[in-house]
Amino acid sequence: MYRKPQVMQQCDKGYTMENTDSVGGYKRFERVYPPAAIPEGSVLWFPQQNNKLLVHVHDDKISLLEGDALLIASLPHQSPLYIGRLNGQPCLATIIDPDASLPEDWKAIGLRELYRRTTDIEYNIASYAAQLINWHRISRYCPVCSAPMEPVPGGWGRRCTRGDYSGYPPVIPAIIVLIHDGDRILMGHKPGWGDRYGLIAGFVEPGEMLEECVEREVKEETGIAVTDLVYVTSQPWPFPSQLMIGYMARYKEGTFQPTDDELDDIRWFTRDNLPELPPPSSLAYELITLWLKQQSVKEDAK
Ligand SMILES: [Zn+2]
Repeated sequence: MYRKPQVMQQCDKGYTMENTDSVGGYKRFERVYPPAAIPEGSVLWFPQQNNKLLVHVHDDKISLLEGDALLIASLPHQSPLYIGRLNGQPCLATIIDPDASLPEDWKAIGLRELYRRTTDIEYNIASYAAQLINWHRISRYCPVCSAPMEPVPGGWGRRCTRGDYSGYPPVIPAIIVLIHDGDRILMGHKPGWGDRYGLIAGFVEPGEMLEECVEREVKEETGIAVTDLVYVTSQPWPFPSQLMIGYMARYKEGTFQPTDDELDDIRWFTRDNLPELPPPSSLAYELITLWLKQQSVKEDAK
């Protein structure tokens, strides 16, 4: 079993994330569960076509589609899901027929492409909508007996009409960890990554605590041991349903041993010689940015 780390501390409040809108702002979104009745009047639409979100584009500026039922009435679509309210305004998700031709100023945009082109809260709702739509797509038939599934009232759960199975929208936890020794961070390289290095990450196994997962993944991928685990923040990663859980951990002991085929190199970096970083939409980037801020606060204090 996992032994609790000796130092378990909160992230210093002086180093808060820039991306606080996704946490603080998200409080303004209130989830709604079936069988809530879809309100009449203007709503925010999260329609998907071919796994992309349909948005309004004007002068290269993206905005969510807003309007009543007539907005999508002329397009073949599935019955909308009432998923919540943003500042009191109802939010509806639906699927538009893959072949339907769209109004001229609408555009289908993938979630990765949408990142930072809309507000964080709108992006989070779009990712929630995409996951619920995906859940309805994959839960039509029972995985045990293939009978049709039906909704469980009061939530997004679905159950087999023969009664031998029930399921809920999947959330798949995965950890990602920034390993440091105080002044440097340890990053890994995979074949085919070019000059880019990244943080260690991996899926949580059944029956495993998050801290156990951090220690195991680091050990499996690098051969080294870490200590002083600190939880930092998390990020829904809707490709298709991960929840990334971000940690920082201090290097304890060991040298690099490629114990599986994943990494071909690990290397220490100081803040002045960082390699090409993961994309800004990732939690890895957020953890590295936070660590850099901590370094400059340390530097200023000297
Ligand atoms: Zn069944």
